[in-house]
Amino acid sequence: MDELFKVYAGIFGLLIGSFLNVVIYRLPLGKDLVLARSACPKCAAAIPWWCNVPVVSWILLKGKCRSCLAPISVRYALVELASGLIFYLSFPTNLTSASIFQWLFLAAISCVLICHFFIDLQHKLLPDVLNIYLLCLVLPYAVIFFAPIHWLTGGGFGFLGPLAVSWLFYKWKGKVGLGGGDIKLWGVLGVFLGPFGILENIFMSCLLGSVVGISLILAKRYDRDGGIPFGPFIIVVTFVQIYFPGLIAKMGFQIF
Ligand SMILES: [Zn+2]
Repeated sequence: MDELFKVYAGIFGLLIGSFLNVVIYRLPLGKDLVLARSACPKCAAAIPWWCNVPVVSWILLKGKCRSCLAPISVRYALVELASGLIFYLSFPTNLTSASIFQWLFLAAISCVLICHFFIDLQHKLLPDVLNIYLLCLVLPYAVIFFAPIHWLTGGGFGFLGPLAVSWLFYKWKGKVGLGGGDIKLWGVLGVFLGPFGILENIFMSCLLGSVVGISLILAKRYDRDGGIPFGPFIIVVTFVQIYFPGLIAKMGFQIF
């Protein structure tokens, strides 16, 4: 019986993933999220509901538009799959109102982070509206469940620390190192993760970003002018912190 609930949760996650795809595509373009019908960005042909079945449609259509055969990014299937898997795998085993609330809360945070991840990857942008939405989720939660010292210092470290580093870097090199979106995202996440959690996140995402950056330079795939978006590293580390608490310390990165 519990397994059935879990499957329903996964299907719910796949459907939410479909909506996240709409957000990822339309938000950076300033298009309406709800009113407009789904259409192929290339030929503008309307997409019927049976071509909008999460993951399945993408595979059946072999990643092409039904009308004009323009390739449809694998991102659509990945977003749906990621959202479905998160909803499915994190569904609580002992069902209480508290565990279901916790599951929904973390799933809602995850949805915003998935949008952030793919928008930043494509547009090098972490939209303010998503950071505000994230803050509206985590701030009430933190105020209710954590001591003020947790979310005040967490948010302070997350926002002011990187801001200071960024300012010093600007004074020194005369150019912007860290994007404002990254700093705001760290500030919001700090409210939830607390002071130690956010310092762990900053340390680990910088480490991950350096490893990937150096690998790209060695593989001669690094775009020196554009750089690489940093948000995805922050987000991957946040997912590990949320769903595998303590894993980073177990891996030997005991920072405190
Ligand atoms: Zn088309």
